[in-house]
Amino acid sequence: MLLVRGLTRRCPWCGDRRAYFHGWFKRQEHCRRCGHGYRRGDHAFELGATTASFVLTLGGVLVVTLVAILLSLPDIEVWWVVIPAVVVALLGPIVLYPISFTLWQAVDLWMRRPTAEELAGEADATL
Ligand SMILES: [Zn+2]
Repeated sequence: MLLVRGLTRRCPWCGDRRAYFHGWFKRQEHCRRCGHGYRRGDHAFELGATTASFVLTLGGVLVVTLVAILLSLPDIEVWWVVIPAVVVALLGPIVLYPISFTLWQAVDLWMRRPTAEELAGEADATL
């Protein structure tokens, strides 16, 4: 459930659709509904979100490349394979920007269950 919420750009903890973003790129420190801080005391949270973005984009590039190869068989047209892959590689991180944060938040919550202080809203999660 956490990962599904993260993949759909929702707060992984409470499921709120607005979660940690005002717009596509403007982040806020806490979920609007539950107040859960996305960093959870971790200074390198963005590194995990960047890794999630990279993995999702790479997966998209691999799928598009495979589909392009299968559609152009038996004579593979290189440009019909390269152009879609480059487009996905360039647009993927932009399109997936907020999803990479909520997905990584879901993975983080799955790996490190929230403490009692976090659940009570007492922990300083904005470090
Ligand atoms: Zn929330």
